[in-house]
Amino acid sequence: MRTTYPLPNPCWHCNAPNDAVSDLTGEKKPYPGAISLCVECGAPGILTETMTSREPTDDELKDILRSQQVRRMMAAIALSHGRVVFIGKGKG
Ligand SMILES: [Zn+2]
Repeated sequence: MRTTYPLPNPCWHCNAPNDAVSDLTGEKKPYPGAISLCVECGAPGILTETMTSREPTDDELKDILRSQQVRRMMAAIALSHGRVVFIGKGKG
C-alpha cells in the first residue's frame, strides 16, 4: 500500500481530520484526479494536486457511483462503523 501524507485535510462531508491518502490496490502512488473515500464517513471525493480531497461535481459523482469497487468500499466503510448503507439504482 502506498501512502502519501498531505497536510491535514478535513473531509468535505463530515469534517473528519484526514491526514493520509493510500492506494488500496498497492499498485500506484495516489495521483491528482483519483477517487478518494473518507475512512470516517465513506464520502467519495476527488484528489487535488496537493493530495487533499474535494467534493466531486454532480457529474463526477455519477461516474464515481458507477464503479462497483467504489460502492463496495463505501459499504465496507459504513459497515465498519456499524451503519447500514443501501445503494440501489435510481429511477433516472
Ligand atoms: Zn468524511
